[in-house]
Amino acid sequence: MKIGVCYFCSSPVYPGHGITFVRNDCKKFEFCRSKCHRNFNKKRNPRKTKWTKASRKVSGKEMTVDSTFEFEKRRNRPTRYNRETMTKTLQAMKRVSEVKAKRDDMFFRMRMRSHKGEQREQIRNTIKKGIETLVPAAADREKALANATKNVKERNARAEARKEKMSN
Ligand SMILES: [Zn+2]
Repeated sequence: MKIGVCYFCSSPVYPGHGITFVRNDCKKFEFCRSKCHRNFNKKRNPRKTKWTKASRKVSGKEMTVDSTFEFEKRRNRPTRYNRETMTKTLQAMKRVSEVKAKRDDMFFRMRMRSHKGEQREQIRNTIKKGIETLVPAAADREKALANATKNVKERNARAEARKEKMSN
């Protein structure tokens, strides 16, 4: 069973799914769903369409350079069937996907870390800008908090007094 790759979004195309378009120069274009086919018919560039894998790779949101991709390369030399190599290959496939998932996770974390730093700086800047409005607001908040705690304490005391009355 051969699993194709969508020309537009690079997701897997399973047999019996999607649409295949063959151009008059015999180039095959496989699409995973009508969304991708329609976007292709509109002559959109997958690299410039935000939701595709290609554009994510272009903008550095996806891991592009890694040794695990070497295993997915097309090889033109056919290998003879051998039970041992088959089992070994299956084991290797499992291990490679594990390693890949781990590296993907690491890549994502590194990417988000830098993002978080930027966010923090932005927040700091906005606080700096609005410090004059923030300080009295914060003071008010503290007063409100103190009031609230006072009210709760009073309520508790009242409730306890009522309980004592009931028991008596
Ligand atoms: Zn697709």
